[in-house]
Amino acid sequence: MLRKIEHIGIAVEDFESTAKLFEDLLGSPAYKTEIVESEGVETMFFAIGESKIELLRATDESSSIAKYLEKNKGGIHHIAFDVEDIDKEIARLKEKNFELIHQSPKEGADNKIIAFLHPKSTARVLVELCQEKKD
Ligand code: ZN
Repeated sequence: MLRKIEHIGIAVEDFESTAKLFEDLLGSPAYKTEIVESEGVETMFFAIGESKIELLRATDESSSIAKYLEKNKGGIHHIAFDVEDIDKEIARLKEKNFELIHQSPKEGADNKIIAFLHPKSTARVLVELCQEKKD
């Protein structure tokens, strides 16, 4: 089961102009920034109740965020759902004919293991599954 919206990912051109905007909008500052080398992105997280807003900026011109920004200039990039057991969810969703971008979970930002579903199988919404890392 998908338990709740863990975060909403928003693509931005740069953090300088948007960090303050989101701080003003949400009424609290970002609680962390983190580079995810494998995805070519830097992330910035804001807490909002039980959920988060994740700003994403490209650190690598060939990253999927860079391509997304080139095409869309910014905006909502993905919705992330919290799951208890990501392997079980991947198997369940494959069974339901959803297409996975990541066939097995990988390291994400903010202490998570993640997998993305292909937007062509999810009504053009990029969906991320994320499970809290248990260590
Ligand atoms: Zn995300």
